[in-house]
Amino acid sequence: MSAVDVKGPKISLEGMVTLEHVNRVYYMGGHTIHALKDISLSLETGKLVVVLGPSGSGKTTLLNVLGAIDKCDGKITVSDLEITRLNKKQLTKYRREKCGFIFQFFNLLPVYNALENVEYAVELASKLSRKETTNRATEYLRKVGLYEKRHHFPSQLSGGEQQRVAAARAMAKNPALLLCDEPTGELSVTEGKQVLSVIQNMVKERPDVLTILVTHNQKIAQIGDVVIRLRSGEVDSIEKQISIPAEQLSW
Ligand code: ADP
Ligand code: MG
Repeated sequence: MSAVDVKGPKISLEGMVTLEHVNRVYYMGGHTIHALKDISLSLETGKLVVVLGPSGSGKTTLLNVLGAIDKCDGKITVSDLEITRLNKKQLTKYRREKCGFIFQFFNLLPVYNALENVEYAVELASKLSRKETTNRATEYLRKVGLYEKRHHFPSQLSGGEQQRVAAARAMAKNPALLLCDEPTGELSVTEGKQVLSVIQNMVKERPDVLTILVTHNQKIAQIGDVVIRLRSGEVDSIEKQISIPAEQLSW
């Protein structure tokens, strides 16, 4: 990708994902909330980018505009695709095929077992045969250590296990972006560390994917290769760091 002239903080001019003057304003009950203020960034694949900030700083909004769950002003480009110019149908395709989400509350389909949850995401995102879909889903459940429990329903899994199914679901569809919003927010430290390890392993395995993990927790931010600090919807700082393996964390 050619160099992009973006004003404001940059990580790399050769980034796969660029944001240029991204703003998100909510109007609610006569109030104006400026959730993202003129954000310009360029992000590289193969890295774990942590977005760190207190509650209300715009972390979820940032992930949601990147994943086309929410709209914004400004320009966002993912590879060659300018997502801020896509129509509704194109956005749905982008979201299904290019974005893997891991949410705080897992968001698994309760009537599907672990395998079916992952298969469903693969089916929506790709044109694999039935057998290939099952193989892909099984492979990813194996990667997250849940092969033995692949026929369990979400209600039969712990929070940490459900989140690892969600991680398998997000990655099995082969996304360009892996977007993780406080993925350990509902988990014990032990289970949280397992989930973060799974995410770190996926980053290592897939240099073509950009992974963004949102947290309010400084300790968790240590697993990132890059930390972007958000404050009141603005980028406060961007720092590269030597990441710490999730197993070594405590919080
Ligand atoms: P964080 O994830 O860092 O806690 P959010 O991105 O959720 O922050 O929110 C940033 C700001 O935008 C907050 O002030 C929040 O109340 C506001 N906000 C987020 N989503 C909406 C919405 N759908 N409607 C109105 N205000 C919103
Ligand atoms: Mg949030």
